[in-house]
Amino acid sequence: MASRGVIRGTPIEREIDRGVIDQLYEEGFLYAQYGAYSRRTHGCKVFKVPMNAGFTCPNWDGRLSLEGCIYCPNFARQFTYESFRPVIGRDIRSQVAHQVDYYKEKGAGDKALVYVAFGTNTYAPVEDLRRIYDAALDHPDVIGMSIGTRPDCLPMEVLDLLKGYVDQGFEVWLELGQQSPHFHTEEKTRRHHGFGELLHAAKECHKRGILSLAFLIMGLPYETPSEMIETAKIISESGIDAVKLYPLLVMHDTSLAKEYYSGRYRPISMTEYAVIIADFLEHMNPYVLVQRISKDCGLDGKIVPEWDTHRFLVGPRVEKILMLRGTRQGTRYKTSLSADELVPLQRGSIVPEGL
Ligand code: SF4
Repeated sequence: MASRGVIRGTPIEREIDRGVIDQLYEEGFLYAQYGAYSRRTHGCKVFKVPMNAGFTCPNWDGRLSLEGCIYCPNFARQFTYESFRPVIGRDIRSQVAHQVDYYKEKGAGDKALVYVAFGTNTYAPVEDLRRIYDAALDHPDVIGMSIGTRPDCLPMEVLDLLKGYVDQGFEVWLELGQQSPHFHTEEKTRRHHGFGELLHAAKECHKRGILSLAFLIMGLPYETPSEMIETAKIISESGIDAVKLYPLLVMHDTSLAKEYYSGRYRPISMTEYAVIIADFLEHMNPYVLVQRISKDCGLDGKIVPEWDTHRFLVGPRVEKILMLRGTRQGTRYKTSLSADELVPLQRGSIVPEGL
């Protein structure tokens, strides 16, 4: 039985309810779609409102490096949302109030989670974080927050601060920028952390009733399809509650752009991406929620891939592959294999006919 609470008249969760995910599969869902899951567990539509509290990132400000990850343009500050543009530079309460009205008028839902979205949003002294989070939650329609951060920026006092909000009844998510569990990828993309930090974060979140999510990029340079499937297996065993999956975007003014122009990096095609996501979902634990299947921010600074990465275009292609194969999330998720299930590692996937 999942642990539940109520805040501002809305049911919220402390852990994932597997019974609700089973219902989704019985209804024909091919993967554990977070939106459908959230409507059932909250009893209403909950939307996210992005918020910028002016955080920086240790991988840009010199603490870890002055360069950032090879794909990061100015630590994600240009990743803006239409709703957010009118409130850039305003104080936190004003940002949240404006966007809650904006989304409610558009019929996005009834209650909101504040998405603390720009930079590394736990990278500050605890008293500064408390002031920022208190302001973010100070709205009658806000039932919690989802905080984007690096898995290596979560000291115990910050986790305990977040538990304090859980104890007040709020729903708290940590969105952890992992991108890949493979150390050679972490090194080559200059993230300056490994996978142990994510395992630690997932474990400590569970102890405190905080939900955890991993950002993962498919199509990173130097990674093979077999390694991406291995990522699904590793994440399945990590204790992470949800994933957001993205294709790698090459943005202007990044190190990756230089690699692309020199011919050292080939972007992934839409069909390759859809096949990899289908493979990934088949190998992932069926009870890990999928919050995103692609990136759909309408980024101006993108060089490649040239195809439209909007999730409304990518999602149906992934579902078509799963339907052609007669599979769904978790079909090939196994912790041990019989002798006749063993297959050699592959460098590529077979694209089904009809795509
Ligand atoms: S950790 Fe995130 S914000 Fe920091 S440099 Fe990397 S991608 Fe950019």
